[in-house]
Amino acid sequence: MSERVIGIDLGTTNSCVATVEGGVPKVIANKGGYKTTPSMVAISEAGRRLVGHIAKRQAITNANNTVYAAKRLIGRKWTHPAVQRARQVLPYKLVEGETGDVRIELHDKTYSIPELSAIVLSEMKKVAEDYFGGPVEKAVVTIPAYFNDGQRQATKDAGRIAGLDVIRIINEPTAAALAYGFKKNIRKRVAVFDLGGGTFDISVLDIQDGVFEVLATAGDTYLGGEDFDQRIVEWLVFGFAKEHKLDLRTDVMALQRLRDAAEQAKVQLSSTTTTDINLPFIMSASGKQDALHLQRTLTREKLEELTADLVERSVEICDRMLKEARLDKADIEEVVLVGGQTRMPRVQQMVKAFFGLDPAKSVHPDEVVALGAAVQAAALVNAQQSGSQPDLLLLDVTPLNLGIMIAGGYFNTLIPANTTVPTSKSHTFTTVRDNQTAVKIVVLQGESDVSKQNEMLGEFILTDLPAMPRGTMEIEVTFDISPEGIVSVFAKDKATGREQSIQVTATSRMSEDELQHVLEANEEFAVAEKNTEVFQTLRNDVERHLREVDSLVPKVREFLSASDFGEDALKKVETQKERARRAIQMQDIPALKEVREKLERANTMLKGVAERVAGT
Ligand code: AMP
Repeated sequence: MSERVIGIDLGTTNSCVATVEGGVPKVIANKGGYKTTPSMVAISEAGRRLVGHIAKRQAITNANNTVYAAKRLIGRKWTHPAVQRARQVLPYKLVEGETGDVRIELHDKTYSIPELSAIVLSEMKKVAEDYFGGPVEKAVVTIPAYFNDGQRQATKDAGRIAGLDVIRIINEPTAAALAYGFKKNIRKRVAVFDLGGGTFDISVLDIQDGVFEVLATAGDTYLGGEDFDQRIVEWLVFGFAKEHKLDLRTDVMALQRLRDAAEQAKVQLSSTTTTDINLPFIMSASGKQDALHLQRTLTREKLEELTADLVERSVEICDRMLKEARLDKADIEEVVLVGGQTRMPRVQQMVKAFFGLDPAKSVHPDEVVALGAAVQAAALVNAQQSGSQPDLLLLDVTPLNLGIMIAGGYFNTLIPANTTVPTSKSHTFTTVRDNQTAVKIVVLQGESDVSKQNEMLGEFILTDLPAMPRGTMEIEVTFDISPEGIVSVFAKDKATGREQSIQVTATSRMSEDELQHVLEANEEFAVAEKNTEVFQTLRNDVERHLREVDSLVPKVREFLSASDFGEDALKKVETQKERARRAIQMQDIPALKEVREKLERANTMLKGVAERVAGT
């Protein structure tokens, strides 16, 4: 008998589990007959742990101790703007963990996010075990494609806590494509537009029989159905405040009822054009005996107006991704919609208008990700058992630039976004000062040129380097990204051959204070790029300007020797020349950028004077 393996879609709002039976992927329904289970966890008054539908049912009366949308917090740092925003709207209490991560306090006990996600994963494992009538351990778990290393690691941690052997984590849009193209013998370029409860991803893939190659991916890990619900909640809250001068947000129970009603109204408006929201006894006016009721009619048009910017944001991300990856929209032959929020007609219209294609009808947006995960799980286990290659090949990409901080706080990309994984890249760096004996390697992931604006994955220090003149010491840093998008880094000092490595771990995250400290105050450990393209280009530019200055100055000096003004300007030019030479020697990129600009201006000035002199 072949081993039981499952695929789990751990969603922000709902989770789904699937398996492959007789070569056909199928979703496993829970005992209540539902194919998806709410990703909700609660601790009851009596201290009982509740999961899924049971947790959802009691959310109104136990809002402070019911966790939903924990996926929006997984692997994030406490200081992340998304976390600070979430604190404003979530009914449960977020606290900062010791390592600067996010924790949730339920009845005076604090839980890490992987712990809470593990409770949902255990429930999905149980759904499968009830179905099989026996234990299941091996699973493929899906994650948003745009998750960074920390979020990926934390999801793997959750799997481990749940007692699962997570044989692979794969990106949700890729899983969806796998289910879509499975056994279809198709050759197509497909865009997967995945708007779920909490996250948005867009991926473009080439499907060639059994090979699924991701060409590019982009997304926003804080854009999804929850934000659409929140817009309706705000609309209801402000309407109520206007009418009764009372703020519903001060009452957690009222707020939870509003949230449920908002989601229901939103879902209904995908099939009707108007819906009534009725919440009797939502609040009582203070000092009055009268209970207040909330009654509003929401039209599809109003909903579209309230959420227009959210839909636009998703389309803008598609546009940016295509441009950055230099992909032609016209080459995309099929668009697959994934995630419950894509059922909203406005979303479908926008996607159709953007790609100029009717979305594929054959996929079920809530189930396709779990089905794809099951397909991948079965392929991996079959290959392992038979000792052969898997019958399908998945080539995914890394979603974010990966690199290190270099002198001046700049971010030096070593592996750009959309590079196929697994991948490995080495780069040689050097010291910035004479006799520098320690170097700190700060590893970051993100889109900005400035280190501080990117996500820090970890850092390590190479010490006891031989004392050598600056720029001569060579440190080779190698970055590895696994097929799951997980990063490891090794550094080797070439003089002694000594190596150090870090497995960048989500659990060893640093607080923002520590991070700022590292990013700002590590002058003494700074490392410089050696012969990188940025430095080369800058050096070439600056040297060209220097040559020009040197040819212009004697001509100008000849004619301006009598003028004080001219002498003063020429002195300044000399100062800039000196700074340029120093910046080249130090490989100081920010200084080179500044001096390039100054020299350019000086040249314009000198040319102007030279022309005037020539004309007289
Ligand atoms: P998922 O994470 O894929 O389960 O997506 C869940 C999100 O889809 C939630 O925000 C749901 O409210 C939303 N959703 C589910 N069905 C619909 C529908 N018919 N219309 C609009 N949104 C929906």
